[in-house]
Amino acid sequence: MDRTESESRKLLRRLRDTLAEPGAGQERLDRITHLIADSMGCEVCSIYLFRDEETLELCATEGLRSESVHKTRMRIGEGLVGRVARTLTPVNTANAPAEKGFRYMPETGEEIYSSFLGVPIQRVGEKLGVIVVQSKTAREFSVDEVDALEVVAMVLAEMTELGAFVGDGGAMAGLHKRPVMFRGATGQEGAAEGRVWLHEPRVVVTNPVADDPLTEIERIRAAVSELRVSVDDLLAAESLDKEQKQVLEAYRMFAHSRGWLRRMEEDITRGLSAEAAVEKEQSTARARLESVADPYLRDRLHDLDDLSNRLLRILTGQGRNTGAEMPESPILVARNIGPAELLDYGRKLRGVVLEEGSVGSHAAVVARALAIPLVIHADRITTEALNGDAILVDGDQGVVHLRPEDTVAAAFRDKIAMQAAAQSRYAGLRDLPAEARCGTRIALHMNAGLMADLPSLVGSGADGVGLFRTELQFLIRAHVPKRSELAAIYSSVMDAAKGKRIAFRTLDIGSDKVLPYMKRVDEPNPAMGWRAIRVGLDKPGVMRMQLQALIRAAGGRPLTVMFPFVAEIGEFDRARQMLLDEIERERQLGHALPAGLEIGAMLETPSLAYAPDAFFQTCDFISIGGNDLKQFFFAADRENEAVRRRYDMLNTSFLRFVSHIVGRCAASDTPLSFCGEDAGRPIEALCIAALGIRTLSMRPASIGPVKHLIRRVDLTELRALIDRECASGAANVRIPVMEWLARQDI
Ligand code: PEP
Ligand code: MG
Repeated sequence: MDRTESESRKLLRRLRDTLAEPGAGQERLDRITHLIADSMGCEVCSIYLFRDEETLELCATEGLRSESVHKTRMRIGEGLVGRVARTLTPVNTANAPAEKGFRYMPETGEEIYSSFLGVPIQRVGEKLGVIVVQSKTAREFSVDEVDALEVVAMVLAEMTELGAFVGDGGAMAGLHKRPVMFRGATGQEGAAEGRVWLHEPRVVVTNPVADDPLTEIERIRAAVSELRVSVDDLLAAESLDKEQKQVLEAYRMFAHSRGWLRRMEEDITRGLSAEAAVEKEQSTARARLESVADPYLRDRLHDLDDLSNRLLRILTGQGRNTGAEMPESPILVARNIGPAELLDYGRKLRGVVLEEGSVGSHAAVVARALAIPLVIHADRITTEALNGDAILVDGDQGVVHLRPEDTVAAAFRDKIAMQAAAQSRYAGLRDLPAEARCGTRIALHMNAGLMADLPSLVGSGADGVGLFRTELQFLIRAHVPKRSELAAIYSSVMDAAKGKRIAFRTLDIGSDKVLPYMKRVDEPNPAMGWRAIRVGLDKPGVMRMQLQALIRAAGGRPLTVMFPFVAEIGEFDRARQMLLDEIERERQLGHALPAGLEIGAMLETPSLAYAPDAFFQTCDFISIGGNDLKQFFFAADRENEAVRRRYDMLNTSFLRFVSHIVGRCAASDTPLSFCGEDAGRPIEALCIAALGIRTLSMRPASIGPVKHLIRRVDLTELRALIDRECASGAANVRIPVMEWLARQDI
């Protein structure tokens, strides 16, 4: 073992010296294959690199025919080399031609080689290529030899990252240079062009090979001790929720794992530097991540990945702040990000791209509030993207183009320009009413949730805020906000609205929207679980405090409050009474009371549409939360990509249902509005208005397009069309409505 280790170290040192010699990428690769074949006593050593995501190319060889260099190619998964690349695990065989998947490549002359050892060249999740040694004698390579070649591959990976093998030809074009497209999912619509800003810039390792293993072992032990202390400190912190604790417990387990440290020490003994040893372990974990489907195990492998990054930062002293300047038009790229961190970046960002995330995640909620395009599930983008890379984010399609080709960028710019031109056309409508040709006036309000949203109230020409999502103020903090803090925020929101109506929706949290400081309840079906008003009524402390903050903020001004997710009259009555009690308490304390009071409910569950008349009579107003209502009406989870777009609100069943609600509100003279995302989609907005809903609340950017369309059409005509379609048995009115629109002068 000792002999092999010192040989391995010798090999790495020779490798490093070879790399240090001047020369182009090709010369270096040639020298390396020669060196490795020689050191390992094999006739053949070949290096294959990826020329695109799918294709490997033979880039250098000692022993195979030199004419085949840059000519021999294979797809990932094809032949033994392709198998190594796909599985990211070594293939070691004494009889290669008999091995399943062996592909005979006459041009290389490899038929005479019986033994084959191939290991992947990879760096923290990035597949770079494959290194192969072959010999005529039929023998399996020893464990030490496999380890040694893996260590060599690690050094090659680091050097590839540093650009040591850049040369002519597709496979040697250098990393992070090629255009890559990512197909993710929409988190927030909109399009943006900019430059990558990595939330967690990658650690750059410049010294993969080390001369003195003892020093390196001391370094890694010291770094691991520091890491353990920091994890223990984190765990000792109060106010951790169950999930944070679970993650930190996993961190602690890995940090104290003897196996982890031992494997890194072994790699150091073979010649790697402490940093390269950490990355080698991290690469192995990432490779495993690719093949693990179990969500729990995936989370744990992610934890190990995070921990490795921390360890690397301790070793290199490279913090998150690399001193790099944020580019102009920054587009944030991250694996995931918390709402408070995203808010810190604020409106500086043009867009956000995440590897993880979900439509209803806190980050998505903040991105929506900031009105910046967000693409989620852009798998592996943090591995590919470098700070400053050109990037296009198409939030409408959920697509991202990294380092785009000129033609793609040009087409994309046309799209942005068209959208901008339309926006400036809409700006001309800002002070005009949304009055249809038939004379019907529709009030267009905006949805908001942060102070940062309020400037849009003036810019968009919204008539008010139809939905103020108060949970955002809770989600971005580590503690329950104080009553005085909330009152100050609500008061400045009202100041900024300059007398325009703001419908404050009380806290809509629970289940999936878990506050960092709230005890987590595991529920099988969170969307239908203990959320919103259900939490507010069962644990009234926070809701009462919020109501007090609202009353104090209003002090002498009118106040509008609405309760989310009401499913039956009793819930609304109790919540309403709570608000009235708080007003009475404030009166007794001698505080200023709101000058006027409107108490409404969100209609988000089908049951409420059939509530007793008394409910409609007691409500000062009702707002349809179409996002939730649609999910329950069609039984299609709004968070589930597989079904969330499956049902269209222009389905006649849904339109009939909305008509029923309109009828019930009309009978009791209860003002009705619609504040789900559909209210901001022009065609849907027209149909909602045609059904008789006179107030729509939407993203500020949608107000222009919706107003433009409303002003061009006759809503009574559209209503007649919808009625005719329903009567004739149509299942959906989208196509007839679009045909009708095409005939209008728009
Ligand atoms: C809705 O459900 O339509 C709604 C507006 O509420 P949220 O999207 O915040 O659940
Ligand atoms: Mg809702």
